[in-house]
Amino acid sequence: MLRITDLSVSYGDHVAVTGLSLDAPDGKVLCVLGPSGSGKSTVLRAVAGLEPPRAGTIELDGTRLDGLRPDQRDVGLMFQEHALFPHRSVDENVAFGPRMRGLGRATVRRRVEEALALVDMSATARRPVTELSGGERQRVALARSIAPRPKLLMLDEPLGSLDRTLQTRLLEDLPHVFRELGTTVVYVTHDQHEALALADRVAVMRDGRLEQVDEPAALWRAPRTTFVADFLGLTYLTALPVRDGVASGPWGPLPVPGTPDGEHDVVLLPGAVRATDPQRPRRPGELAVPAYVADRRFAGDHVRLVATPDAGPRLSVAVRSEVVPAPGDRCELALDPRAVRVLEDDGAADGPLALTLTSPSRPSSSEHPAQEPS
Ligand code: ADP
Repeated sequence: MLRITDLSVSYGDHVAVTGLSLDAPDGKVLCVLGPSGSGKSTVLRAVAGLEPPRAGTIELDGTRLDGLRPDQRDVGLMFQEHALFPHRSVDENVAFGPRMRGLGRATVRRRVEEALALVDMSATARRPVTELSGGERQRVALARSIAPRPKLLMLDEPLGSLDRTLQTRLLEDLPHVFRELGTTVVYVTHDQHEALALADRVAVMRDGRLEQVDEPAALWRAPRTTFVADFLGLTYLTALPVRDGVASGPWGPLPVPGTPDGEHDVVLLPGAVRATDPQRPRRPGELAVPAYVADRRFAGDHVRLVATPDAGPRLSVAVRSEVVPAPGDRCELALDPRAVRVLEDDGAADGPLALTLTSPSRPSSSEHPAQEPS
């Protein structure tokens, strides 16, 4: 497996990655997720040997990589801007890696056939890459990174340059490709949906550091900080006063057992809130608050409402409900208090996306509208 310990990488004076420790388990897919500039590519470049670490160690199957040249490391790296050789055919492009490893002709041919079959591009083997569509080129680039059979395959935003339809198609294919390969994969993306679709584990990066590492389901069930919650598109409420295990917020008293007294941020987990019909009975334990709907956006399997509860400022919340109120409507927002988690203090509560509810010392919601996840 890949083991990164206490890695720091700088560009001149600029610290891009600092004190990062991360394992990628054998044969699993690790997604490195984070906003642009958080240091994701730098980690891959350090592992590939393209960027010298300032500190820390990188091991693959127990062997230190840091002293080795890039071509001695047995890692494959595919970038978003997958530079294929434009004047060569598909199979010649894919044969490049295995040939560089000095493999015999028959082995090279077999590797090329296998790699093209994996990405479903066997039929194009003889065609020049210039005749391929963007999605087909992306597949060839993937085949090219697979063909040398590296111990570790690293992909840097491999779907970044594709349109939505192609992204969706490749996202459906990739888990199959990774399973067939059986190799360890490190997959960099800024897209939470990609991470959710592909990863066995997700490492969330922020400002050159790791913010949280978890299995996808665990990450969505228990984000640790407002940064992670926000990045996953979850609604969070900042600076709720807590006393004796009860938080005060727009839904009234919320049980948060074991939480020390003071101000705390909380996240509303997926499915926490429904828009309800006030005439119909509530579910047991549900807390409801009347609200005014400012905006709504359909997002496939859910609707994102921007609503202002009567007892608090505006929030943006994903709802899957039988009732879909329109902008200008009054509705009731029902909260399942079991789907509320207290977040760790990550020092980000004063950031521009944080949503303040009750603390009089903080700016009002009209200056800081509810966060809109990307
Ligand atoms: P990500 O992949 O998450 O978008 P990067 O690893 O590319 O982030 O970049 C991390 C930080 O390092 C950013 O602040 C970026 O501007 C900086 N950076 C990246 N490459 C270089 C470079 N070649 N020279 C100087 N700074 C760089």
